Amino acid sequence: LAEEEGFEADELGGGVAAGGGPQPVLAVVGRPNVGKSTLVNRILGRREAVVEDRPGVTRDRVTYHAEWAGRRFKVVDTGGWEQDVLGIDAAVAAQAEFAIAAADAVILVVDATVGATDTDEAVVKLLRRSGKPVVLCANKVDGPSGEADATALWSLGLGEPHPISALHGRGTGDLLDAVLEAMPEAPPETFGGASGGPRRIALVGRPNVGKSSLLNKLAGEERVVVDEMAGTTRDPVDELIELGDRTWRFVDTAGIRRRVHLQEGADYYASLRTAAAVEKAEAAVVLLDVSEPISVQDTRIISMAVDAGRALVLAYNKWDTLDEERRFYLEREIERDLVQVRWAPRVNISARTGRHLEKLVPALETALESWDTRVPTGKLNAFLGELVAAHPHPVRGGKQPRILFGTQAGTRPPRFVLFASGFLEAGYRRFIERRLRERFGFEGSPIQVSVRVRE
Ligand code: GDP
Ligand code: GDP
Repeated sequence: LAEEEGFEADELGGGVAAGGGPQPVLAVVGRPNVGKSTLVNRILGRREAVVEDRPGVTRDRVTYHAEWAGRRFKVVDTGGWEQDVLGIDAAVAAQAEFAIAAADAVILVVDATVGATDTDEAVVKLLRRSGKPVVLCANKVDGPSGEADATALWSLGLGEPHPISALHGRGTGDLLDAVLEAMPEAPPETFGGASGGPRRIALVGRPNVGKSSLLNKLAGEERVVVDEMAGTTRDPVDELIELGDRTWRFVDTAGIRRRVHLQEGADYYASLRTAAAVEKAEAAVVLLDVSEPISVQDTRIISMAVDAGRALVLAYNKWDTLDEERRFYLEREIERDLVQVRWAPRVNISARTGRHLEKLVPALETALESWDTRVPTGKLNAFLGELVAAHPHPVRGGKQPRILFGTQAGTRPPRFVLFASGFLEAGYRRFIERRLRERFGFEGSPIQVSVRVRE
């Protein structure tokens, strides 16, 4: 069984939402009200995925798993920009910037009934410069009479406009076919590690946890923050930092600094940047602020990293502020809210005093090593054989599904496929996953377990 076979997961084990390996990312960009969210809902095939756009409502969730014509990919909805905060042009430019940074293909949505605006032209320029595949979508062509409006969009110079009605579904199949054609099968494996080159780290966490402080401390100098006006888009800037005896690439650190210039309420922008950084990185260091209770925002950011299949280190920052009482509650919060990622290495640091910063690199190295781990098939099956003999699947309706054999279908993160004689219950899959961890470690890496039923 070769890795190249690219197994389709029939059903997915606990942990990561969608197995089957790294998936390409599709970004949907365009001005407000052109129908981006409506189109994303169409692509996802369910109404509830993206909530109705209401001014002032921020969305934390930005990436969704999608499938078309048997291919899996991620869709990023950039419809949640708070244009009041950023201004329309800045918001749209920022979307384009995101698309350039983290997407493998882009759908630019234009409202065909309005035609190309200056904002559309500006975004086209940015997208074109990036060299990413762009598919032009002429939306709100609800009937044949709108086709002429769509044709006018040839003027944008992005090739053929695809006329659709996101609202009614007209033409969306053809659009998706075109998108899949333009999109690579999988994101390019441009990661460092074994192939040499610095490993890519996303330093993420909610606003004010201390990301900039930590980065500055690690870089060993306070540096000048270049004042970047919202709206002047440039390519995201990574930061190379020597730590231990190697160089690390902290991705998209420009976003971390730029945040300073945004007003409060730009949460959506922050979460989109987080998603972009996580997609580009091999490992995520999620910073938590121990002086405050662990929040939903914290756990969402952790989930983003886990869902993206990235190695994970949890850094509890501002340790210098901790007193006995807060410490007591912190440990209880961790027990309660972060059990799902008990496997992630933990460092208790202070970006301010420099406490335990030297522990960050070993934690990252452990996590990345796990992320790269390959368990030989023989070893895996010896383990599965023993496990299944000692703990067979419970009998259900007179039947007892058995695991026939397993194989590791991929790494980064480790992905396992179990072949079974019948459907394995979720509880049993989680049990197997737990035992896999106990036996092989994987400290700091998510693992994916999927099951294929063999007749
Ligand atoms: P976004 O701001 O780009 O995410 O736009 P939305 O998806 O929220 O859509 C803005 C408005 O345009 C909503 O009232 C939609 O119902 C409407 N809309 C979206 N797609 C279509 C379409 O294909 N035809 C028509 N007639 N209206 C649409
Ligand atoms: P960011 O928004 O995540 O980049 O957070 P910043 O690095 O801007 O830090 C937010 C605030 O927390 C600033 O006032 C920092 O001085 C403070 N801060 C950061 N790290 C620490 C720490 O380890 N201890 C304490 N006491 N304060 C910290």
